[in-house]
Amino acid sequence: MEARSHQEFVVQGIAASKGIAYGQVFVYLQSNVEVPSYVVDPSRKEEEIRRFEKALVVTRQQIQKIQEEVARNLGQNEAAIFDAHLLVLEDQALLSETIRAFEDSGKNVETCFHFVAKRYIEAFAAIDDEYLRERAADLRDVTQRVLQNMLGQSTSSLSQLVDKRIVVANDINPSDSASIDRSQALAIVTDTGSKTSHAVIVARSMKIPAVVGVGDLTSRVQEGDWAIVDGYDGVITINPTEQTLFRYGQIRIQKNSFEQRLIEANTQPAITLDGVSVSLMANIEKTEEAVMVKDYRAEGVGLFRTEYLYLSSARMPSEQEQFIAYKSVIDAVAPQPVVIRTLDLGGDKQFTGKNDLFPEEDNPFMGFRAIRFCLENVPIFKEQLRAILLASAFGKVRLMFPMISGSEELARAIVLLEECKEELKTRGQAFDRELEVGTMIEIPSAAMTADILAQQCDFFSIGTNDLIQYMIAIDRVNNRIAHLYEPTHPGVVRMLKRIVDEGHRAKIPVAVCGEMAGDPVFVPLLLGLGVDELSMTPPLIPAVKYLVRSMSMADAVKLAEKALTMNSAKEIFALCDEFYRTRVNVG
Ligand code: PEP
Ligand code: MG
Repeated sequence: MEARSHQEFVVQGIAASKGIAYGQVFVYLQSNVEVPSYVVDPSRKEEEIRRFEKALVVTRQQIQKIQEEVARNLGQNEAAIFDAHLLVLEDQALLSETIRAFEDSGKNVETCFHFVAKRYIEAFAAIDDEYLRERAADLRDVTQRVLQNMLGQSTSSLSQLVDKRIVVANDINPSDSASIDRSQALAIVTDTGSKTSHAVIVARSMKIPAVVGVGDLTSRVQEGDWAIVDGYDGVITINPTEQTLFRYGQIRIQKNSFEQRLIEANTQPAITLDGVSVSLMANIEKTEEAVMVKDYRAEGVGLFRTEYLYLSSARMPSEQEQFIAYKSVIDAVAPQPVVIRTLDLGGDKQFTGKNDLFPEEDNPFMGFRAIRFCLENVPIFKEQLRAILLASAFGKVRLMFPMISGSEELARAIVLLEECKEELKTRGQAFDRELEVGTMIEIPSAAMTADILAQQCDFFSIGTNDLIQYMIAIDRVNNRIAHLYEPTHPGVVRMLKRIVDEGHRAKIPVAVCGEMAGDPVFVPLLLGLGVDELSMTPPLIPAVKYLVRSMSMADAVKLAEKALTMNSAKEIFALCDEFYRTRVNVG
């Protein structure tokens, strides 16, 4: 209604790709295919199955064509999205269940395929895991395409997009986004979607702003309405007034010049004004993300969360499968180092496969998680340790144990590692005999015994995400108390100092790989406390590097000294924020 009267109105969504765009709206509504249902004459059974097979072949060819186009226009990484689609077409469970449903019911094969695929889509969509929910979207996309091919309908596309427009869609599936002409799309906005949806990946790679999860915007705008898309804050303003346009014009100028400065600074080394070099590393979860290490000029992988290998499969991955995955990351990052963290399942990372391995728990974050699970499931743990050792023969690898609570646990993990080394020696297989072993410090008892742990390992990596949650007793995924999760709590700051000092006393380096390391407001505090290395989500590196190059280490040390004398989280935060703002003219 508001849109029809040309009144300005604002909608809040999730910021998904940075940038600000202003232009007219192109409304795109994806529609579901209507599937007719009828009984097939038994004499035409084989013909019906051939029709299905032909639709699969045509669909495969269409997807491969899109994949080639995407590879040409956007690059190999984005094109890899379509591998998942091609796999759907080979999914034996889906295909043989369709044939079986056809044989049992005698109904036309599109009805059977639609029915079977819908069941799978609903099952995936119901799983509380963003990655698996995205697989439901892949399956839906491919199903629509197969059905359209069987029914002889033309496949929908965004190729009608002409003139530079802001695409406002109820949803955009990968094949849709592939057909967007990048010179014609100013921004992408979707009613649904999440941080990992394909529309977002494509928007980011096209370097255009995107906002997802804006509710029912498609029903509130009309073709041709004017809009501003703010991909920084996830805000859409429809029919903006002169004042709003002016305000965004100013913001755009400031942001563009700041982004430009960040990009320029990222080609420079991470050295403070007084000449101290700071090591900025990448956190990755999936093997494919290893390419980002070079893209963002990280000095290696500071945290490879290996859980993903287990989460993306219904069973535990074998030694060989893991070895291949680790080696692919090592190869992509070489000659720079890769810190591989052993399995940290449990907590918010629940294994969906063999559930008898993980009991239902009232308090999963304080439960059977990470090293606790590994030490009770020695064969699974040793399989991973051997895979990491084998991969260590191919590059600079460091191994790190998560959720260590004290000396005995670390000692037991190291004994198992030594046993694995002996097993590989017996097998005559190579590994790095000098492999460095680190301990994640993310439980307060480990922090308090850092002096002891430092004698048992080669480096520390502080997991501030967990350390803060356990220190302040704040469940890190509970929105109700999220405001109490304060990295600048004096207790946390003192604890960080203690860990760094104990590490250095034992002459081992101390890294931080929790989210705090990628937030430019907290980086001076961490560096001032003496942290040697920061590891973060790769896209955060340019902003952190820019800050590092704009500050002096001497000032950071003074900042940390002052923070240690303060009484409240708010005071310390204000101190850090002011330090940041005076060094970096954010605009
Ligand atoms: C941490 O706890 O800070 C950390 C890096 O580990 P994760 O977020 O994987 O628990
Ligand atoms: Mg952790």
